[in-house]
Amino acid sequence: MTKLKIAVQKSGRLQEKTVALLKECGLSFNNGPNRLKADAHNFPAEILYLRDDDIPQYVQDGVADVGIVGENVFVEKRKDIDLIERLDFAKCRLSIAVAKSIDYESTDFLQGRKIATSYPVIVQKFLDDNGVSAEIHEISGSVEIAPGIGLADAICDIVSTGSTLLGNGLKEVETVMKSEAILVSGKNLGSDKQQILDQLIFRIKSVKAAKNNKYLLLNAPNESIETITKVMPGMKSPTVTPLQEPGWSSLHSVVNEDDFWNKIDQLKSLGAQGILVVPIEKMIL
Ligand code: ATP
Ligand code: ZN
Repeated sequence: MTKLKIAVQKSGRLQEKTVALLKECGLSFNNGPNRLKADAHNFPAEILYLRDDDIPQYVQDGVADVGIVGENVFVEKRKDIDLIERLDFAKCRLSIAVAKSIDYESTDFLQGRKIATSYPVIVQKFLDDNGVSAEIHEISGSVEIAPGIGLADAICDIVSTGSTLLGNGLKEVETVMKSEAILVSGKNLGSDKQQILDQLIFRIKSVKAAKNNKYLLLNAPNESIETITKVMPGMKSPTVTPLQEPGWSSLHSVVNEDDFWNKIDQLKSLGAQGILVVPIEKMIL
């Protein structure tokens, strides 16, 4: 039987959420720190546990058919593989940071300086785009200590909250790229594997949509139903059921997470009461 080989990070910041996503897609498999691979019991797939940096290469070579990696690693490794789907987790950015004491005004500061990073390809492109020539010093870990020990004038590293930078006496001065976890695929998987992948993508989209939407229930005076429908049109239109109390109805609909609180404010001002917000487990589009 054909199986789709899915590469996931063995341990690290992507691991837990990647495994959680695949499980939410209905794949049941064993995972543990000492495993190299695991069969899904109920889906034609095999999970391979790898270092995230190696995933693009393995996908290009066909050792794995698809993989889940940070977009930063995908861009840095420049392999002949495709970005299939953004996954809405492991959101971070690659930023340039310099010592807090530096009076940084523009990328001109970087001219002729030394920049320490684990992402030389991405940094070089950023420098080229900004017409700056600087020396890139590639190091694989603890990049943030480089300025303090005199190894570099600036760094380019992953930032999510910025607290690690602050803790090392640095400040963020340029965003080089934004990143999140993505699904990548090799070229020409063949029709059997492509079919399994399409099924997986369909499930991932349903899980993502569910996370980005909420089920909303509320009571409203009948004269507001039309206006409220415009605020929460839902997948087709809201369900409207009469309440026992004359002149009132209950409305049910799906609302997007974007702009959620603004919508709630609008609904309240239209006379909505007893508003309930319920998470959606899966949303089939
Ligand atoms: P490995 O041992 O597999 O090589 P690693 O140390 O290179 O792991 P991690 O720190 O686990 O990598 O990060 C993996 C990916 O998670 C990064 O490439 C990035 O896309 C994302 N990431 C890293 N740090 C953060 C963060 N603070 N917040 C959100 N996402 C992050
Ligand atoms: Zn890594």
